Amino acid sequence: MMYDLSREERRHLAINRETTTGALIPKRCACGKAAKAKQLDQHGKCVACQLADRVATLHEGDLDILRHMLGATPHHAQVRWGFRNEYLVNRRDAAALERLVAAGFARAGRPLLQLQYFHATDVGCRLAGLSAKRAAVALSLGAKP
Ligand SMILES: [Zn+2]
Repeated sequence: MMYDLSREERRHLAINRETTTGALIPKRCACGKAAKAKQLDQHGKCVACQLADRVATLHEGDLDILRHMLGATPHHAQVRWGFRNEYLVNRRDAAALERLVAAGFARAGRPLLQLQYFHATDVGCRLAGLSAKRAAVALSLGAKP
C-alpha cells in the first residue's frame, strides 16, 4: 500500500514535470511572443523575429527596389499592387538584388544579354505590402519564363 502510493506520487510528479517543460506548452521567444517549441529549438526565435533578422540584412533603398519590382508604390493603386513582378537589374542595383535574394525576398529569373531579371518571392510580396490575393497574382506572373 505504501509502495503503491509513493509510486502513484512519483507518477504525478513526472507528469507535472512533463507539463511544465514539455513541448506541448507554448514557449516564448525573447521578443515575448509565444512561439512553437520546434521553431525555437531550430531557429532560437519566433517567425517574426526571423523575418526581422532577414529585413535587417537589407540596406537602405533595397525595399524600394522590391516595391518597384511589384509595382507596389504610391504611383499605383494598392488594389493593383503585384500587377507586375519583374525587375531587370542593372549594375548599380546588383548588390541590392543580391541582398534581396540572400534574404529570400527575391529570386533570379532569366538572363537578358548581360542583364538579369529578378522576381519577388511570396514573402517578398508580403514584405512589400501586398495582400495574399495580390501576392498570388504577382507570383503567377513571376513564374512565367
Ligand atoms: Zn520573437
